[in-house]
Amino acid sequence: MKKMPGMYSCEEVHNLVTRGTVEDMGMMDRLRFKMHLMMCHHCARYVRQIRALGESIRRVFGMQPDPEHCRRLEEKVMAHCDGHDHE
Ligand SMILES: [Zn+2]
Repeated sequence: MKKMPGMYSCEEVHNLVTRGTVEDMGMMDRLRFKMHLMMCHHCARYVRQIRALGESIRRVFGMQPDPEHCRRLEEKVMAHCDGHDHE
């Protein structure tokens, strides 16, 4: 989707999710983040996948996921997503 003034681009959203910094963002940034997810199905699905990934890691290992391990898995998810239905 096109980048609008004051809105996050898909790339920015992906970066925020991958770095896991969404929880540390201010209210306005979170709002912009949520706005983007409401309008962009790609990013909404991406966030769901990353969250599901974190959840299953916690369930399987019974602990907080190792960030490095998590990042590698996320790269796999990203690689899998690329080449599908990106506009
Ligand atoms: Zn997007």
